[in-house]
Amino acid sequence: MSPAEVCIFCRIARGELGVSFLYEDDDVVAFKDTAPQAPVHVLVIPRRHIASLDASGPDDDAVLSRVLLAVRDVARTLGVEQAGYRTVLNTGADAGQSVHHLHAHVLAGRHLHWPPG
Ligand code: AMP
Repeated sequence: MSPAEVCIFCRIARGELGVSFLYEDDDVVAFKDTAPQAPVHVLVIPRRHIASLDASGPDDDAVLSRVLLAVRDVARTLGVEQAGYRTVLNTGADAGQSVHHLHAHVLAGRHLHWPPG
């Protein structure tokens, strides 16, 4: 089986798991994190399987841009753009990446400490 066939986020993006999207377009979908770390915790992912930011390539510039612009739009839709929000891309083991499909966390709704743990 290819990574895209078994990847949980690919399955979500294909609509196989019945997850509701807060945002979707041809390239990107956004949905709530199942283990929220803040009152607002949304994941924005490319529909196409890219294992991590480090696995992205020269053909991915457009989709990476789409992910960031979707983060902006999700934040506005949820009304957190004025108060602020944090965007996190965990890449690799030391960052704690647990799902190997590129995703941007959007965290908001409380004061977020810095530096992160
Ligand atoms: P990371 O640790 O950066 O790889 O983040 C993976 C995130 O995906 C975690 O915050 C998980 O809670 C979240 N997650 C894992 N499986 C699902 C799922 N089926 N639906 C929504 N969020 C998920």
